[in-house]
Amino acid sequence: MAGTSSGETEHWAPGDHVLWRYRRNGPPPEPGQEDAPAPFHICRPVTVVQDTDELLAVWVAPGTECVKPVLANGADVHAEPLATRYTAPRTTARTSWLGNGVLKLARPGEPWSVWLFWEPVWRFRSWYVNLEAPHTRWEGGVDSEDHFLDISVYPDHSWVWRDEDEFDMAQRAGLMSPRAAQKVRAAGLAAVETIRQWGAPFRDGWEDWRPDPRWQVPVLPDDWDRTPTRMPS
Ligand code: MG
Repeated sequence: MAGTSSGETEHWAPGDHVLWRYRRNGPPPEPGQEDAPAPFHICRPVTVVQDTDELLAVWVAPGTECVKPVLANGADVHAEPLATRYTAPRTTARTSWLGNGVLKLARPGEPWSVWLFWEPVWRFRSWYVNLEAPHTRWEGGVDSEDHFLDISVYPDHSWVWRDEDEFDMAQRAGLMSPRAAQKVRAAGLAAVETIRQWGAPFRDGWEDWRPDPRWQVPVLPDDWDRTPTRMPS
């Protein structure tokens, strides 16, 4: 994969294709494998927009084939009532990214990423702060674990917590310890402080960004769930 080196971290070049993945939440299902990292259940092939020591920006193009968790019968996980959403058996499915593309911004070490959503014909709608584990980089992309709680942020600088019900249920289902949940809430409050001060990335004009029209839609590889071969920085 093409890239340039700066300091310790190997950087990807704009236009490179990498994988943006999330591990399944909660303890591993098999006894005796408690130390094994959870398998991946979300994989989004993305195009690198910018990759520096300060920021990784990637584009999820419309129509990209992705992997997402589904119920064992193939139905959307939101078809399951909240009370049993996190205990009902799941599997993964390949599915096309529907609707408009999404720009994702992640600062190394930060416990959230910020996603930009547009309406058709590039009318900017909102930012979405997705609370998640700081990314682990590997040669094929970045890995994380979603933390359920989210924040929507609007152009008038107003904001609102999202998915607090799922955040509560995930704790009740044992997917997140009280201590871990406390850290997630603290991370959320730190994100809210950034919103209140209108810091990066909200002030940075990313809503005017557009993808390079020459870019091809990245392809989902067969080994999308492969174990990272190295763990740089
Ligand atoms: Mg989330």
